[in-house]
Amino acid sequence: MNTDGPVKTARQAGLGQCLKCHKLNVITHKNQRCSCCQAKVSLRKYRSLEYTLAWTIAAIIAFFPANLYPIMIFTSLGSPEASTILSGIETFIQLGMYPVALVVFIASFIVPLGKMLGLIILIITVKSGSKVDPKHRTQLYHLVEFLGPWSMLDVFVVALMAAVVNLGFITSIEAGPGISYFALMVIFTMFAAESFDPRLLWDNLDNDD
Ligand SMILES: [Zn+2]
Repeated sequence: MNTDGPVKTARQAGLGQCLKCHKLNVITHKNQRCSCCQAKVSLRKYRSLEYTLAWTIAAIIAFFPANLYPIMIFTSLGSPEASTILSGIETFIQLGMYPVALVVFIASFIVPLGKMLGLIILIITVKSGSKVDPKHRTQLYHLVEFLGPWSMLDVFVVALMAAVVNLGFITSIEAGPGISYFALMVIFTMFAAESFDPRLLWDNLDNDD
């Protein structure tokens, strides 16, 4: 597809997508309903930026207890030991479990931070009317959306560790309170990505002409 010329958006063409069934409707009046499923057709998600920002802030707040509270409680050699995400990674390295350490580090640190940063970049560029190629920013949005469920990997690692614990030196692993905050953080970033309306990224182009 040739996109070198001026891009015409659905809004410019007088079309609006139904958010429920995704049918394109010709917009004739305000508060129009979808001709297919009768849902309200809106040109943009309602207060998309505000909701995205609110969920992102909630995720950033949850990031701190997720990292400060113990995520796992090990019992090795009879004495219980609380472990945060970072000290857990350290323990895995000491035990020589490098792949697990790497998975936990990427899933618990790189991915959530990257997602929150990505969301903030998307919000700022829309808010500031940035002209940075919307195609690249849409790719960033897809990446944030794609990564959403994958950061839950960390929660599964804890669950998996608890299940395969009869390995020897560690006699029991329990999930600590940090894991609840971690799960909340992941859910909040998923809500943030869901609230974001990627069509906003293309709206700045409308003002060019
Ligand atoms: Zn519909």
